[in-house]
Amino acid sequence: MLEQYIPFVGEETIHELFLISKKLKGLRVLHVNSTYKGGGVAEILHRLVPLMNDLEIKTDWKVFKGDKKFFTFTKKLHNLLHIACGHCINSEEIVYYLKITYENFKELDTENYDIVFIHDPQPMGLIIKKQPGQKWIWRCHIDTSSPDPQAWNFLENFLNTYDACIFHMPEFIYEKIEIPTYTIRPSIDPLHPKNIELPEEEIQTTLTKFGLDPEKPLILQVSRFDRLKDPFGVLKAFKLVKKKYDCQLALVGSFAPDDPEGEIVYKELINLTSDEKDVFVLNLPPDSHKEVNAFQRGATVVVQKSLKEGFGLVVSEAMWKGKPVVGSNVGGIKRQIVHGVTGYLVNSIEGAAVRIKQLLANKYFREEMGFHAKERVKHRFLIIRHLRDYLILMYKILNQIF
Ligand code: UDP
Repeated sequence: MLEQYIPFVGEETIHELFLISKKLKGLRVLHVNSTYKGGGVAEILHRLVPLMNDLEIKTDWKVFKGDKKFFTFTKKLHNLLHIACGHCINSEEIVYYLKITYENFKELDTENYDIVFIHDPQPMGLIIKKQPGQKWIWRCHIDTSSPDPQAWNFLENFLNTYDACIFHMPEFIYEKIEIPTYTIRPSIDPLHPKNIELPEEEIQTTLTKFGLDPEKPLILQVSRFDRLKDPFGVLKAFKLVKKKYDCQLALVGSFAPDDPEGEIVYKELINLTSDEKDVFVLNLPPDSHKEVNAFQRGATVVVQKSLKEGFGLVVSEAMWKGKPVVGSNVGGIKRQIVHGVTGYLVNSIEGAAVRIKQLLANKYFREEMGFHAKERVKHRFLIIRHLRDYLILMYKILNQIF
């Protein structure tokens, strides 16, 4: 399986992975997050877990179960960790979080593992299951550079019992953390059905199937229906662009079981755009990988106008397909786009509209930027590098190298 990646990263890199993994052979590793489908964490685990097993590191993935009430609270927590906005966490919510944690405590077996990776705040309380000799690592996918203090205090109760934590970027590491911290950037998989090459015909058929005109320039944002992804801002930018260019907008999204806000945002978008014949708000099943691939390949300009962003896998996905991306100057988007080289970083709706227009006007620019975008992903944001980072991190933690 790993050999299939040689065309992307070279033989030597794969050989090196096998060498590093020899030091970890027989290790039992568990990943825990809160959904099998929807969002970037699930997307990564679907690819990373089999590859770790391919290296003979016995790796399992388990999902922490919650209900709507629990996930409504953890989504609030997620937002508060991204932005301090004055909302309070109340004691009823905390009690409910602990109740659901206790239910998972009873059901979810974590004992037979040497290393347990807990992804994001939802399953964080499971740390109470930690056994002597185990290493527990919190893997954060949120920009926690300036969190709401109350939300952070809540997490800290659990965090200080972990052996280490991992963030996407050094800037995300909140200054008050007392345990060892590491940074690992996320990645995309070039062999995922979402990222493989597609015949032009399939791209055109997919756009047509959803009512789009394959001949008309397409502005695209792909993301969960989440206010922090700012689909409303994209819509406003599109309206400014539309004054000059005859183009269409697709807001492609899906629901994730651990994000109950999605349905509300989706309905708002549908209501707002019901009279707009060139705007397509599409709610796809979360495993519509080929469709998302076709949209990203069929797009003229890809946008990611998040107000806050952990990493934004969708940016790398589009760049891998040779697309220039107009993205907000926030979080992990800043790390992916090189302003003026692989796309544009923007700070406002108006700024986004200007850059989209600039790209629509110039095919040469788009192609040139798209070329550099793909190269950047090839060297920095592919899964083999991610896997290597994980191996080295596990080796360091087991051997107490900080
Ligand atoms: N995604 C998808 N269908 C959708 C919306 C998103 O398959 O309708 C995928 C997207 O291609 C990406 C992941 O979900 O792989 C989203 O990851 P990202 O890091 O961009 O955002 P997150 O949802 O984790 O905040």
